[in-house]
Amino acid sequence: MPPPSIDVPSGPHSVEAFVRGYENDRLLRGFRCPKCGTLTATWGLACSRCGTAPLEEATLNGRGTIVAGTIVQVASDEFVNDAPYAYVLVELEGGGRLSGWIPQVRDAAEIAPGTPVRFAPSYKPGVQFERVLPSSTTASER
Ligand SMILES: [Zn+2]
Repeated sequence: MPPPSIDVPSGPHSVEAFVRGYENDRLLRGFRCPKCGTLTATWGLACSRCGTAPLEEATLNGRGTIVAGTIVQVASDEFVNDAPYAYVLVELEGGGRLSGWIPQVRDAAEIAPGTPVRFAPSYKPGVQFERVLPSSTTASER
């Protein structure tokens, strides 16, 4: 007896395209629901709000604010030169929420909820952010 067929919606997107997007294309990729407009940074086949499929690919805003975070003191090999660093959850302006990291963070006050951040494309793994400090320039603006 053959296995039951499952009707899985297809989409043009892939996890690989996500990774390539933020590591090579310097874009934060996400998805927009064509029916209700919900934006999400999470790879998926259907809208988490209304169930519509497929979703459309979208470029997310690279600016957002920290929702939560923690400081990592002991790092794996690939992050050892950046420790201590912060692992943060970021709510993007316009929609989408994703996790990423900020190198060289020593004090939890630096990653307090509400702290503005922006996507800081890097050759390093993961989605790297940098804090947006008022009245100072950052590496990407110099
Ligand atoms: Zn929807």
